[in-house]
Formats: sequence, C-alpha cells, structure tokens
Amino acid sequence: MKEFNLIEHFFKQKSGTRKDVVIGIGDDAAVTHIPQGQALVTTTDTLLSGVHFLPNASPHSIAQKAVAVNLSDLAAMGAEPAWISLSLSAPDVDEEWLTEFSRGLQDQIEYYSIQLIGGDTVQGPLAITITAQGFVPYEQAITRSGAKPGDLVYVTGTLGDAGLGLAIAKNEVDQVIEKPLSQVNRDFLLKRLNYPTPRLLTGTQLRRIANSCIDLSDGLISDIKHILKMSACGATLDLEKLPLSQALVNSVDEETALKYALSAGDDYELLFTVSEEQKGNLETTLASANIQVTCIGHLNGNVGNLELKKNNLPYQNNVQGYQHF
Ligand SMILES: [Mg+2]
Repeated sequence: MKEFNLIEHFFKQKSGTRKDVVIGIGDDAAVTHIPQGQALVTTTDTLLSGVHFLPNASPHSIAQKAVAVNLSDLAAMGAEPAWISLSLSAPDVDEEWLTEFSRGLQDQIEYYSIQLIGGDTVQGPLAITITAQGFVPYEQAITRSGAKPGDLVYVTGTLGDAGLGLAIAKNEVDQVIEKPLSQVNRDFLLKRLNYPTPRLLTGTQLRRIANSCIDLSDGLISDIKHILKMSACGATLDLEKLPLSQALVNSVDEETALKYALSAGDDYELLFTVSEEQKGNLETTLASANIQVTCIGHLNGNVGNLELKKNNLPYQNNVQGYQHF
C-alpha cells in the first residue's frame, strides 16, 4: 500500500495548526506541549467495517464518527481535546474513498480545533483506529468510580435514536416501525447514528460537580453497570423519565422506544451522577450553557443491582446491552 506515504499525501495539508504542536506529521514521532497544571488524557477506539459501521457507510461519516467516538470518551472524563492520531487499515488505495475520508477528518479537526499529529496506514480489512488526547486540570478528571449511594443519575440529550437509525440503515424498519417514517425523522435518526455529537462542553462543565461519568456507547443498561461496578453501588432507573426524541416516539410504539433507549448503542450521550447537594449547582451551570440534561433515577447501596421501574412499578424486560451488529 505504501507506494507513497498516504498519511502525508491525504492528511497532512489540513491536519490542523495548534500552537502546542512542535512537530506534527512527517517526522518519526510527534512532539507536543502539555499546558502547565493540566493532566494528559488519552483514549483509543477502533471502528471495524461490518461491526461498528455498515460497509456501505459514506467515508465522510466514517471519519467523522471515528473522531467523535474518541472525543466522546474524552468528554466523559471532563477533558478537552487537543490531538488525534490515525491508524488506517484499508484493502486498497481507493483515492476517491481516501479523499472523502480525509475531508470528514478535516471537518472534525476544524470544528473542534484539534490537530492530527501522526498516523500510519496498512493494507488489510477496513478499520479505523483513532487515538485522541486532551487535557483536564490536575485531579479534576471525572471517573467511573466516584459515584456514591444517593447520587442522582442524569443523561444528556435523548436516548435510543441511533438504535432506530441503525435499523433504518439496515433496512429493517418494517419490523419495528408502525407508522410511515417521515423524511425529517428518517434524516434525524440517521444523523444521530452516523454523526454523533460528543458532549465535550457538558463534560468540562461537570468537573467538580459530577461524582462519576461515562459516555453511552453500548447502551444505557450496559454502560451504567460499569459505574455500578466501579463505584460499588446499585441503581434505580425511572423509565418514564427517559428522554426520548419526537422522531423516536413518533416512529415506534412505546415498548420499542424504551427498548432502544435502554439497550441500543451509539448514542454517545453522557451519563453522570451528582450528589443531592450539587443538584442546584448542576442546574445553574448547565442552564447557562443551554444543555439538555434529564434526571432518570438514583443510586443506592444495593451493590451491582440495577432496578428498572416505570411509574413506580417494576418493569419487566428482556433487553440486554447492545452488542453492535
Ligand atoms: Mg466510553
């Protein structure tokens, strides 16, 4: 594949221009500066064709999502993003595909003021690995392990949209959709699947307010269990409070909407917990930033136990966490 250096050819020109990058693409390694008083936060995520995106997904959306899911992990730590590196495995040198892919990457680079500081390409099955790095002030990173019994459980945005978006992308909507799907709803749900929004601003605002945080990549039920395990807590979720979009509610029946909200992945919203004492602080801070958050339940001392209730009655379900597709 390396007839010429693909990274330099397709990605160097618009890789970003941050002042904290001393040496970017083109040398043996990148050299960067970490601001004083800040800790470096690093995350890596791989998107594999047929597992994390459909083989026919647009290269632009694949690049955007590969960056977004990594930035979402930084957001969950309360970090702000700075640099990314790319490892691209592709079956062949498809100039058109690479051009569109690099355009998707550049759009994210510009939007988030980040810089691509290095990368590598290899011939193989289509897979994109991004490593993202960012900063958080010393001792202010938000972890999965800081939650306490009595904490309130919040989520950003709406849940389940990407799950229905995936059914649409896979042409499986006939099985789940009751009413004809409007073009507006269809576009919205597909956008939620293909162009997730990392909640970076919320993440940074939650520093010193949230006790714990995680991003919702695998589904609410799967992901909250990580917090319960790491923090030795249990949780009760009130399902009538789950924030559902009009597009989801208008397209499927209530049970199906709840199923997507509980178990479908790829929403990339934040789930975080806050003590009762911090509730007022949270609401004031987020209101000024115009960020939608919803309290969906609370934590308790029943370690590892996740209780689902709807209108105060136990909710029977057989939904499991999302296993991608
Ligand atoms: Mg994560």
